Amino acid sequence: MAFSKAAKESNVNHPTFATPYSQVALPRFKMPERSTPKETAYQIISDELMLDGNPRLNLASFVTTWMEPECDKLVMAGATKNYNRCVNMIAHMFHAPLKDSEAATGVATLGSSEAMMLAGLAFKRKWQNKRKAQGKPYDKPNMVTGANVHVCWDKFARYFEVEMKEVKLKEGYYVMDPAKAVEMVDENTICVAAILGSTLNGEFEDVKRLNDLLMKKNKKTGWDTPIHVDAASGGFVAPFIYPELEWDFRLPLVKSINVSGSKYGLVYAGVGWAIWRTKEDLPEELIFRINYLGSDQPTFTLNFSKGSSTIIAQYYQLIRLGVEGYRNVMVNCRENAKMLKEGLIKMGRFNVASKDDGVPLVAFSLKDSSHYDEFKVVAKLRPFGWIVPAYTMPADAQHVTVMRIVIRKEFTRTLALRLLQDIHNALLGLDANAKAFSSAKKASVTNEEVVTTTTKRVTITKMNCIC
Ligand SMILES: *Cc1c(COP(=O)(O)O)cnc(C)c1O
Repeated sequence: MAFSKAAKESNVNHPTFATPYSQVALPRFKMPERSTPKETAYQIISDELMLDGNPRLNLASFVTTWMEPECDKLVMAGATKNYNRCVNMIAHMFHAPLKDSEAATGVATLGSSEAMMLAGLAFKRKWQNKRKAQGKPYDKPNMVTGANVHVCWDKFARYFEVEMKEVKLKEGYYVMDPAKAVEMVDENTICVAAILGSTLNGEFEDVKRLNDLLMKKNKKTGWDTPIHVDAASGGFVAPFIYPELEWDFRLPLVKSINVSGSKYGLVYAGVGWAIWRTKEDLPEELIFRINYLGSDQPTFTLNFSKGSSTIIAQYYQLIRLGVEGYRNVMVNCRENAKMLKEGLIKMGRFNVASKDDGVPLVAFSLKDSSHYDEFKVVAKLRPFGWIVPAYTMPADAQHVTVMRIVIRKEFTRTLALRLLQDIHNALLGLDANAKAFSSAKKASVTNEEVVTTTTKRVTITKMNCIC
């Protein structure tokens, strides 16, 4: 028994941040009972040492800030690798209906923003071609999304002259309502864009329901309005920890998907992917063919030259981690998000706006913001080194403010515990300020009743308390 356990353990080759070591906090004042692999120990310690103005503490962003040294070396060396392999791996991961030796249709981009613009252009062109063929006007294309879409969609709409029709949110419901979205669809709609992992609270939109409702509408109207899924943050999460969730090419109306390699694809900033269901979904006329670089090269991107380092890094992660490795990382992230969420709830001061299932992040707001608001809380965290954003929700939930903590693979349990402690301290500081302020106010009221000339002094007291 002992032998088989040891043998089993030595066979396990977890990536650094998906080992059991990142799920337990190291004892701080006692020597740990068991040894820790040297790489893990080094990582955990250097993580604690970096608590001072480091991009790793920037919890505002989904973007990867740590990769294995082996991958760093490859990136530095700048070796070349064909990105077709990545495109195919990702297309299979999204269940593209490919025959055995059929090549997938997709491109590497600078990020999800470029990827979704390409997908949007493909929809626009397909719609225009169809309208032209029918002899109908094709000058008023529109697109239906939730008001929670990422700013890149607004950019697309403005740059490429497509009207945005946004489904409004409401308090407590921060994603696109599929029924309302389908209602907004008309004959000029080039696509409905759903988000797998809303930027605001990480929630997955119900793409299956959207697909089913839109199928019905298409059947009734004779249109064939398609769906695009913006899976910038969720595209590398759902396939590994929610494999049953149908949101991708398993749904017939989903014609294209974008995903950020630099988010849960686990690569540094500068890579995204646009994948089409079949090659028919990408109009041939948008693809340029060049041959002056030595071979026939199809190109469909907004820019031209692009470093190969992030594609090599993506390829490295895909083969280094495999399904097992990505799953371990995502499970870890989910566990750490859960732990953080529970810690916040225990403080008794916050409402949580994110869901347990979704992109691993915690979005939360103050239950009582009458003395100080969420912007004050995050400002108080800044001196500890943490960068946490606070923002108001889009219409019609603009009166709700949330703070958001994105759980990346490199945000370990040790860091999560430290953050909870710092949030607790921040609240204590703010409470003390609020109390001092309110007793100063009370005092001023009493004083004003007695002598009216104290206004000046009171104003100064207020100023002292606010800082
Ligand atoms: C981050 C994000 C984007 C933009 O992705 P980039 O890779 O930074 O261009 C688009 N949509 C959603 C939902 C996102 O979360």
